[in-house]
Amino acid sequence: MSDCIFCKIISWEIPSTKIREDDTFFAILDVFPNTKWMTLVMPKTHYDSDLFEINDNEFYAQYLSAVQKVVNILKKWLKVNRIAMVTEGTWVNHLHAKLYPLHGIWPEWAAHETKKEIYFNQYEWYVSTQIWAKATPDQLQKIADEILNII
Ligand SMILES: [Zn+2]
Repeated sequence: MSDCIFCKIISWEIPSTKIREDDTFFAILDVFPNTKWMTLVMPKTHYDSDLFEINDNEFYAQYLSAVQKVVNILKKWLKVNRIAMVTEGTWVNHLHAKLYPLHGIWPEWAAHETKKEIYFNQYEWYVSTQIWAKATPDQLQKIADEILNII
């Protein structure tokens, strides 16, 4: 797409800081990082940003494999133990995975709870993984019943 900023980055019409490229995928450091070395992984072919509208299992496998290669680069380079991935795609409408190095996380898995509680009634243009108040089994079952009535 001619007006897509990521297509322009992939074609080098707009400069970027590339950290990996193959025939199909392209990875760059985000120019607006909210943590050290936040990275974007995108297909070279333009796809709209809603990953779950693509409906191509072969593409999903290739894309996740490309993302994993970048994750491995970041883990080795930054010496971080985990990388989080988000694909909400609400700012640039070209499919991309945002990779957030989880700086300071422990090498061995352990449960972690934050002291902050946050709940969104609508999307606030960012994603949070913080928990909120614990739902009751009855509340969850009511929602599950509504979902199962739709499908
Ligand atoms: Zn594009």
